[in-house]
Amino acid sequence: MQLLLAEDEPKTVSYLTKGLRENGHAVDAVGNGADALALALSETFDAIILDVMLPGLDGWEVLKRLRAAGRATPVLFLTARDHVEDRVRGLDLGANDYLIKPFAFAELLARLRNLSRLPKTPPSGSLLAVGDLEIDTLRHRVRRAGQELKLTSKEYALLLLLARNRGRVLSRTLIAEAIWGLFHDQQSNAVDALVRRLRAKLDTPFATALLQTMRGTGYVLDA
Ligand code: CA
Repeated sequence: MQLLLAEDEPKTVSYLTKGLRENGHAVDAVGNGADALALALSETFDAIILDVMLPGLDGWEVLKRLRAAGRATPVLFLTARDHVEDRVRGLDLGANDYLIKPFAFAELLARLRNLSRLPKTPPSGSLLAVGDLEIDTLRHRVRRAGQELKLTSKEYALLLLLARNRGRVLSRTLIAEAIWGLFHDQQSNAVDALVRRLRAKLDTPFATALLQTMRGTGYVLDA
């Protein structure tokens, strides 16, 4: 993959660049947000690994401007933050996935493989649609078949994560990390419980199910 790495910690940059190149990826590394944005707009990348805390423009701002310019390049956020609100903000802005620092290098490679399978569909402003489901990421409003769904912040975060990755199976580990930050074994149950609560609002009242369980693998949202 042709990758853009935006990260300002020199040690992390050299470690990641070396590892990614050893795994056959081409890497352009930049150390601040302005360079990241300029390069992301002028070149074509298969994915961008974007640190949230960057000097100059931070990762949020880079992502926001990139999406505003109509670029759908998959973005993997690197973040030390572990609040669900921060992750929702990133997903609202158009991030495709998250990795919480510190992470295992193998996990980064796995996430990149998943990102490379995403359809290269252009973003459609603040409105995300999956079948008759509409998510207004600006107002945090969710409608299905014209009917408004009242979701909690965690249910909304889960739905947004699935919608940003529609058609792609998300593992319980990925979901747990994206919603709660760090993964613990007991959170596997928490993921299932959260999925059940979301499903009760999202699918149960309607004729067709959008949220599917892939036995032993995870969950997928698709029409
Ligand atoms: Ca940083």
